[in-house]
Amino acid sequence: MVSNAQCINGTATAHGHIGIDLSTHPTPVVNTPKNTFIEICMSKVPHLYKCYTTNKLFSLVYVVIIFLISILYGSESSYIGAIMAGFTTHSITTVLGYWIHVVFHMVDFTALYENAKKSTNCVASTLSRIFAWVPRRISTVVDNIMYFFCYYILDFHDKHHHNTNINKRWYNVLTEAIQNILWEGGIIVFISYSLSLGLSIYGRTYRLNHTLIMLWSLYYVSYHLINYTFIKSPNTHNKHHINFETNYGPDSLDILFGTKYDIENIEDFNNGTINLVVIFVLIVICKESTFNSGILRYLGKILK
Ligand SMILES: [Zn+2]
Ligand SMILES: [Zn+2]
Repeated sequence: MVSNAQCINGTATAHGHIGIDLSTHPTPVVNTPKNTFIEICMSKVPHLYKCYTTNKLFSLVYVVIIFLISILYGSESSYIGAIMAGFTTHSITTVLGYWIHVVFHMVDFTALYENAKKSTNCVASTLSRIFAWVPRRISTVVDNIMYFFCYYILDFHDKHHHNTNINKRWYNVLTEAIQNILWEGGIIVFISYSLSLGLSIYGRTYRLNHTLIMLWSLYYVSYHLINYTFIKSPNTHNKHHINFETNYGPDSLDILFGTKYDIENIEDFNNGTINLVVIFVLIVICKESTFNSGILRYLGKILK
């Protein structure tokens, strides 16, 4: 009988048992052992449990706030529906924010744009034909806008915030804060508003809770700007600045998606409970404000 090892080495042909010369074929596929995925998922459970027990206070307060905001500001007709939509909103927001952060480190948008201009594919050639047709001054302006959009907006986090020589400058700190608000929730609110997103199940429509999205977004930016600056140790975000393919944050998602810098070093972010409560109170003040004009009313409208 010919063993697997012999087949892979191609000696099976030499013995004449199998009529395929494996030596001329690409490297045979070695399948991942069955149940590996389930075992990997199960191996994360103790770390996720440790993450939640380490951050019991923060988790408890966040859950209570999700309940309160869902009941107070959810658009669903029933409390149960509003709470379900609230927790779904929180999950979608945090996971989307995590993956946007990952994409910003995976893709070099400026290089992509520069390469696209030199490319000969049909899209690039159509665009260059359009650019050749419009006056040169206009095409230069469009080119500059595109470059600005790629380099200063889409690549800002990777090329500016992760550059220790310039990321402490006030305008870069401010830009990072604005971008955090946008990419960690603002963009979802904008799309949800514009498209009037909703999911209809058995005649009931469930919508994203914009107040909860903005709560996460504002919490994220405040923690990134204040807590990570003043609380030096243990600071898992520092590790993200050492290796940008790890510790994207929050810790629970890094555990889930296998991007922890050190799986044994679970972050204690209970200090973020203060941020959470302060932001929650400010949101409620903005929304419940009876002032007929001014910034509170305007903010209340945004958070509607
Ligand atoms: Zn950072
Ligand atoms: Zn980053």
